[in-house]
Amino acid sequence: MAQSDTPPMNYTQALARLIEGNRRYVAMRQQYPRQTLAHRQILLEGQRPFAAVLSCSDSRVPSELIFDQGLGDLFVVRIAGHVPSPLVLGSLEFAVHSLEVPLVMVVGHSQCGAVSAVIKGETMPGHIHRLTEVLQPAVDAVRTLPGDLLDNAIRESSRMTVGYLLEQSPILRQAVEEDRIKVVPAYYSLKDGSVEVLP
Ligand SMILES: [Zn+2]
Repeated sequence: MAQSDTPPMNYTQALARLIEGNRRYVAMRQQYPRQTLAHRQILLEGQRPFAAVLSCSDSRVPSELIFDQGLGDLFVVRIAGHVPSPLVLGSLEFAVHSLEVPLVMVVGHSQCGAVSAVIKGETMPGHIHRLTEVLQPAVDAVRTLPGDLLDNAIRESSRMTVGYLLEQSPILRQAVEEDRIKVVPAYYSLKDGSVEVLP
């Protein structure tokens, strides 16, 4: 099922490609790669994305733009607050198991409205509270730490999401244990456009 005009990558190469693309974006020297009609035609044969990205639905954080990538490059899952769930996990497992992506990146971002709502203790109507419930433990975990609470909570939520993915998914865990993939938390700055891989 995994096909493309490019050879498969390992996670080190995949991470380097994401970081390089983000550097181009930060410097406003984008290449806008693989967005031609010709490339669209090549991809009719199948896809071999080199990374899966789980990020927030926030309109300011589109993965293909912030990493300067093109069609067929990224398998993207977006949900408000980049919160994990069994369905999100299913999508990422598909990327790893069926498309053989070597890298899964969870990207939180500055000024995330979902995390901010949790900090403010806002009561959300409808199903919105389901998102804030998932984010609450990240806020609680960093509440007494020095520094900016919102920023710390966003970083913590990226790390916690990675923890959830590995804890809940034998498929991802086995791939990590066999050194086939890496799952990394990251933080995107709306201000300067940079993506920082978190420890
Ligand atoms: Zn957000």
